[in-house]
Amino acid sequence: MKPNPEGLAIGIDIGGTKMLGCVVDESCAVIDQGRAATPTELDREEALDVLEEFVRSLHELGKQEVGTIPVGIGLPGMVTLDGVMRFSPHLHALDGVDVRARLSERLGGVAVSVGNDANCAALCEALVGAGKDWSDVLMLTLGTGIGAGWVRDGELILGAHGYAGELGHMKVDPDGLSCPCGGRGCWERYVSGTALERLVQEAVDRETLTIDSDPGEGIGQTVKVLAQRGDLVAKGILDELSLWLARGLGFIVAMGDPGVIILGGGLTDLADEVIPRVVALLPTILEGGTIHESVSLRIADFGERSGAIGASLMARRSS
Ligand SMILES: [Zn+2]
Repeated sequence: MKPNPEGLAIGIDIGGTKMLGCVVDESCAVIDQGRAATPTELDREEALDVLEEFVRSLHELGKQEVGTIPVGIGLPGMVTLDGVMRFSPHLHALDGVDVRARLSERLGGVAVSVGNDANCAALCEALVGAGKDWSDVLMLTLGTGIGAGWVRDGELILGAHGYAGELGHMKVDPDGLSCPCGGRGCWERYVSGTALERLVQEAVDRETLTIDSDPGEGIGQTVKVLAQRGDLVAKGILDELSLWLARGLGFIVAMGDPGVIILGGGLTDLADEVIPRVVALLPTILEGGTIHESVSLRIADFGERSGAIGASLMARRSS
């Protein structure tokens, strides 16, 4: 790699619906950022075209030549330890693609770091964000689906193949709702932005809830305000999301006993309503009940940028 006197890196977070790319300095400050739609409807080569163009546009934004600064990319799915996107429920075009190698080749041999998007977010929050005071940090991103990453003593837990943390597809109800992954009853069908939209739509269809704003556009904020005004249906939606969140966290706490659980993603619009409910529910779920030490639940410090900043950190570590 050529000299990089400004110490910049590019981090890209590819979500289920949108991509956020950041040009980040050594203190994790974002110098510039760009957005694009995730190429969910395109074929493999077209999707790679979009990613390549996005990486190049971020270099232009940061006034850097390709090859001068590290590039890291968080992908929404199962990513192997050597950078192959094995399976993505929300971006099937890249299933089986060696994203690291293909992008590197398209960018003239530049090294590209690739990992799971939620792992990148976890790395950011654990190292420099809301989890920096804990040694065991679980991060959940509650967006289109659920992403998760676990950082212990500053290092991501990746598992034997790289797939650790695919918690959104734990089957919490084997006969439950169908999921884009092909399974049924996945946790993310019950706790995510998608789940919130479904619950609101069901209530609107039953004519028990009236939403004035466009569904999907700040819907969390709308539900929260309605609940705070005493709307029982809106409160019921928050109760249901909280219950499913607490049930899933019960499995996770039992398995790994994190010191802090950090929540990110769009559903955190509801955090000040959901977190107290989950804190109240967890002792009813965990072994030992109230004897079990409480788990801290926090909101991500870096908001929607956690994944992109984490991807830049991943790139720095590999460069
Ligand atoms: Zn699933």
